[in-house]
This record gives sequence, C-alpha cells and structure tokens, in this order.
Amino acid sequence: MTGSTAASPGTRRGRSLVVAGAGLAGLTLALALKRAHGPALAVTVCDPALKAGAVRHRGRAYAVAAGGRRMLECLGIWTELGPGAQAVTEMVISDSRLADPVRPAFLTFGAEADREPGEPLAHMVEAEPLAAALLSACRAAEVDLVPEGIRRAPVEAGAVAVELGDGRALRASLLVAADGARSRLREAAGIGWVGRAYPQSGIVATLSHERPHGGRAFQHFLPSGPFAVLPLADGGRLGHRSSIVWTERAADVPALLGGDAQDVLAEIERRFTPELGRIALEDGPSAHPLALGVARRFRAERLALLGDAAHVIHPLAGQGLNLGLADAAALAEAVTEALRLGLDPGGPDVLADYERARRFDTVAMAAATDGLNRLFSNDSLTVRLARDLGLGMVDRLPGLKRFFAGEAAASRGPRLLRGEPL
Ligand SMILES: Cc1cc2nc3c(=O)[nH]c(=O)nc-3n(C[C@H](O)[C@H](O)[C@H](O)COP(=O)(O)OP(=O)(O)OC[C@H]3O[C@@H](n4cnc5c(N)ncnc54)[C@H](O)[C@@H]3O)c2cc1C
Repeated sequence: MTGSTAASPGTRRGRSLVVAGAGLAGLTLALALKRAHGPALAVTVCDPALKAGAVRHRGRAYAVAAGGRRMLECLGIWTELGPGAQAVTEMVISDSRLADPVRPAFLTFGAEADREPGEPLAHMVEAEPLAAALLSACRAAEVDLVPEGIRRAPVEAGAVAVELGDGRALRASLLVAADGARSRLREAAGIGWVGRAYPQSGIVATLSHERPHGGRAFQHFLPSGPFAVLPLADGGRLGHRSSIVWTERAADVPALLGGDAQDVLAEIERRFTPELGRIALEDGPSAHPLALGVARRFRAERLALLGDAAHVIHPLAGQGLNLGLADAAALAEAVTEALRLGLDPGGPDVLADYERARRFDTVAMAAATDGLNRLFSNDSLTVRLARDLGLGMVDRLPGLKRFFAGEAAASRGPRLLRGEPL
C-alpha cells in the first residue's frame, strides 16, 4: 500500500474513495475516476483476492455490449483488448426440444438494432485479459491496490472509517461495495435483498470447433433452460472457438458433468450448434449457482452498491457484467459532477443521483431476464405455442432486439457509455 491513502492525515476530506472488490465492476469504476481526477482524488481498491496478484476469472468470457465497449475505449484499454475480442454480428435464436433433429432459427437479428452503422451487436471479451488490462491500467493511473478485505466500515465524523483485514485503517468520504452477490458490506449496512435462487445452474466452458462461427452467436432455448454458444476469437485445437453458457436444472448437473471427459463432451454435443462441426473442450466446464436478486436500495450513508453487490440476474441475456459497467459509468459521473462543483462526493445528493440513474434499468433488466427464463425453461405445449407466437412478434419489435443486444439504456445512459469522457 502506498502512503497516500493510509490513515489519511494527508488526504483532504472529501477527496478519497475506497472500493471494496477488485472484480471487473470495481476495477472499472476505480480506473474511470482516477483517469478523470488524477492526484486530486485518492482511490483505493481492497480485495483479499489480490494476494494472488489478481482476481482469477479462468475460462469466463463476456458479451460486452456497445456501451461497455465505448466505455473501455474511453478508459484507454480497448486498443489492448480489441484484437483478441470477437465481434458478434448476428444472434440466432432457436426454440426446440433436445431430441429434435433440427433447430430451425426462430429469430435472427444483426445489423438492424439501434447502433452505429456497421457496429456489432456486442463483443465477446475473455475475462482474464479484461481483468489484466484493467489492473495494469489501474496501476499506471496510481490506483492504490490493497490485497486485504474490508472487515468493517462504520461512518464516523463525516467519513467512513474503513478497517482492513490486517487491522489497518483508512478514511474515505465514500465507500463503494463492489464485493459481489454475497456482499457483506450491503448486509452490514442493513440493505435488504429481494430475490430467490433459481433451481438451475449455469455451466460455462470454452470449446474449439471445426467450422468458423462467422461472428454468429446462438441461443438454443431447450426445455431445461437456454444454451448459448458465443463466438470467441479463433484458436484452440480445432481452429475456431466459442464459449458456452449452458443452463440446466441444478439437480441434473452432477449426472451431466460427473462422467469422464468423453461423456461430458457428448452431452455438450447434443446441445451444441451442429453446423459448427466437431468440438473439443478447451477449458471447463464449471457450474455456477444462478439467482435473481436486487438490493432494496443502492446506497446508505457514504456507501454505494455496485455490480453484483447491487443486483444478480440470470445469464441468459449476458447482461450481468454490462449492468455493472453501467453502474460504474453512472457512479463515476455522479462523483465527478460533485467534485467539479466542490461538493462532497459521498454526500446524500450524489448517491441519490446515482441510485436514480441505475435503479429503473436494473429492475427492468432483472424482470425481463426472469420472465424470459420462466417462459423458455419450460416444456409445456401451451407455453411453447405461446412463446412461438410471441417470438414471431418480437422479430418485429426493435425494443426487445435492443434488449438482447444490451443496448436498451446506452443511448440515454451515462456519458462513458456513450463514448464521451467524464
Ligand atoms: C454462468 C454465468 C455466466 C455469465 N455470463 C455473463 C455474460 O456473458 N455477460 C455479462 O455481462 N455477465 C455475465 N455474467 C455475470 C457476471 O459474471 C457478473 O455480473 C460479474 O462478474 C460481476 O462482477 P462484480 O465485479 O460485480 O463482482 P465479482 O466478480 O463477484 O467481484 C467481487 C469481488 O469482491 C471481493 N470481495 C468480497 N468480499 C470483500 C470484502 N469484504 N472486501 C473486499 N473485497 C471483497 C471478491 O474477492 C471479488 O473479487 C454471468 C454470470 C454467470 C453466473
């Protein structure tokens, strides 16, 4: 830890901020603020996972929507990530049973959604290089990276008194809880959580395949849940790669993944996109419990919730991290406006602005993903008929297409998502 943020005698009141959590949301916020304010704002990120050098994200890849990509460009890290990112130019949606011999495309969309001409729907970005680029940009911008967790953080005399795992103390005008879905800081602040666990797990893996994907993403809605095939940059043993996000009933996962590598590959092959040819496992699979949850408030006194600490949604639309990036853009903007006006960046008005900017979109996205999961993780004939009719209409509804492309909020969202610096 450098001296600038420790126990703070030299830190001007109202000019320091502590982020709990060096996940992708926490690091993005820290970088955005440090790039905008330089030495005028001390930014510390604390995370015990930094003891290993960086937070591990092995085998994960994210569909970063156009707004998130514009933000990463503004923050100066897209030049490094762009060459390894895969543009998603088309999304093909099918609705079939597992045993159906063909999976006719139900809905296909690409260039017509609300983006710049020629702008892809999203870019698939692998989490390890994204985290590494954020971390090294944070170091270069002099974000203080502390490999300790936050034990407690009471508000005392107009500042947050942050106590680290090793007993050291920091003072800050604002604490940002970016400490993930089971946020202890959210709990300690007494902020309620509305949600429930899904009886499903999300299985993620990286595959290589024989034939090129041509930038197409596939979402196969199968009775036990959606199976997404998301294009990655070429490579791997068979020359072309995709990432899968496979939703299954949690109770079935041990049987599906418990066999040897050949059995697991055979289960994936039954669900995979046949036109991509032969497949091989490159990384994973790993299974993750799925849940829906939104915090009752996104703020408390001198505390803002960010990323999964504020909301957790079903991964079927690949929007969880995009919500976290939008949170980072909105909070960085609210804090910046306060600092430019000489106001306290942890004051109630700043946090109210942030909450107002994020709450509606978050709740709308949580409800939409939950509704789609209920509608599609189902084999009832009437539900199948209703959704087939519904999807035909969706094809003509640009709003829902934009939702799948993660673009619903970007055009009216915070500056960084529009590609404008703070
Ligand atoms: C199967 C699956 C597939 C997904 N696919 C996509 C996708 O395609 N696109 C997409 O946008 N999103 C996707 N998501 C969602 C995405 O993974 C999350 O929304 C995102 O990773 C959350 O990032 P975060 O930084 O908010 O939290 P996290 O990554 O959970 O980071 C929290 C950090 O806080 C640290 N921490 C915990 N407690 C403390 C403490 N007391 N003090 C300090 N630090 C602490 C932890 O060590 C951790 O590093 C998917 C999720 C799942 C489950």
